[in-house]
Amino acid sequence: MILKNLVVGPLASNCYIVGSESNKEGMIIDPGDEAEVILRNVKDLGLEIRSIVLTHGHIDHIGALKEVKEATGAEVAIHTDEAKSLREQPLSKLLGLSYPTPPPPDRLLKDGDSIDIGDLYFLAQHTPGHSLGGICLLGEGVMFSGDTLFNFGIGRADLPGGNHSQLMNSIHTRLMTLPDNTAVYPGHGPDTTIGAERSGNPFLQNS
Ligand SMILES: [Zn+2]
Ligand SMILES: [Zn+2]
Repeated sequence: MILKNLVVGPLASNCYIVGSESNKEGMIIDPGDEAEVILRNVKDLGLEIRSIVLTHGHIDHIGALKEVKEATGAEVAIHTDEAKSLREQPLSKLLGLSYPTPPPPDRLLKDGDSIDIGDLYFLAQHTPGHSLGGICLLGEGVMFSGDTLFNFGIGRADLPGGNHSQLMNSIHTRLMTLPDNTAVYPGHGPDTTIGAERSGNPFLQNS
């Protein structure tokens, strides 16, 4: 698997470029900002982007969506419960951030749907709590955790559509059930593993 992490935008969001070594198909997870940087990296990696997958619709994960979609023609996928928030951007109004109007999604995901990239495939895991239709993307030995789980942190549950007990339930049932050596690539901050979070994440103790 080809994997490139770019830290983009004022909220230091992780944008991941993922590709298949075998046929150079690729996907972009969360084009949060800095479309030029994302597109330059895609070119350098020699990838043909098939999918743009949004872990959720918050402004810091979709700021470059319009430009990246226009440049690649790739299919935009988001969970069906998140499409409204992608369209309406309640958070950007709240934060007073401006953004290019995102294009409508091409594919509405539901829990368990798969995204195929060459010889790789990823499963959408619906993990509500940070937002209504947030997903984590599970691949072989890797989890892209969006703003659900961070390195020694968890996502906020106080934004529109958030719910703390739902967030904890998502983490415990969809993430903490994975093997310890599963690599975790979150929406912000450094990567981690399920094992490191299981033993050391202060938000997961006694809950
Ligand atoms: Zn978020
Ligand atoms: Zn975020």
